[in-house]
Amino acid sequence: MVVTWGSEVPERGLFVGRFQPPHKGHMEAIKWIFKNGGVDELIVAIGSAQESHTLRNPFTAGERMEMLRMALAEYNVSLSSVLIVPVPDIAMNFVWVRYLEMLLPRFYVVFSRNPLVVRLFREYGYKVVSPPSFERERYSATVIRKLMLDGNEAWRELVPYSVAKYIDDIGGLDRIRSIAGRD
Ligand code: NAP
Repeated sequence: MVVTWGSEVPERGLFVGRFQPPHKGHMEAIKWIFKNGGVDELIVAIGSAQESHTLRNPFTAGERMEMLRMALAEYNVSLSSVLIVPVPDIAMNFVWVRYLEMLLPRFYVVFSRNPLVVRLFREYGYKVVSPPSFERERYSATVIRKLMLDGNEAWRELVPYSVAKYIDDIGGLDRIRSIAGRD
C-alpha cells in the first residue's frame, strides 16, 4: 500500500493493449506482471476503444472486455485485482498520458513493450517495465487475425479456450471474413 493525500491506495500498475483479440501472450504477460511487477492491482486499459469491425480492429471494446474477463478467470487471475477500462484514442500523442491520468485510477508503474507507449510514459517520468516476450512470433494478434481470415483453425491454439468459444458464439470469424469481402 502507498499512503497519498491521507488515503491508502493499492500499489497499482497499468497495462495498455488493443487486445484484438486477447491471446495467450497477453495472458502470460499479465501473469508475469503479478508475479514480478510488484503490484497488488492492475489496470488493463483497452486502447483504441472506438474501433471495431475493421480487419485491424474487428472486436468492439465491450467484446474485448468480456474476452479479457473470461481469459483472466481461465488463467486463475483474480478479477478483483484487475480493473478493465476502455480508452478511445486521441489525436495528440503528447497529451495521451495526461488524458489517461484523467480517465484512470492512480497508477505508479506502467507495463508495456510497445515502443510508443514506453516512450510517452517515460517522457512524463513514469517507471516503465517491459515484460519478456512470450513466443511473440506465434502469440501475436496480427498472426491470429490473419489465420482467422484465411480459415486456418490454428488460431484456436493461440488464444485461451474461453476466447475461442466467445469468438465462435458472436460469429467473429464470419465478421472478419465479411469485412474482408470474403465468403
Ligand atoms: P497489443 O498489441 O494488444 O499489445 C499489448 C501489450 O502486450 C504490448 O505491450 C505487447 O507487446 C504485449 N504483448 C503482445 N504479445 C505478447 C507476447 N507474445 N509476449 C509478451 N508480450 C506481448 O496492444 P498495443 O498496440 O501495444 O496497444 C497500445 C494501445 O495504446 C493502442 O490501442 C494504441 O492506439 C494506444 N495508444 C494511443 C495513443 C493515443 O491515443 N494518442 C498513443 C499511444 C498508444 P508488443 O509491442 O511486443 O507486441
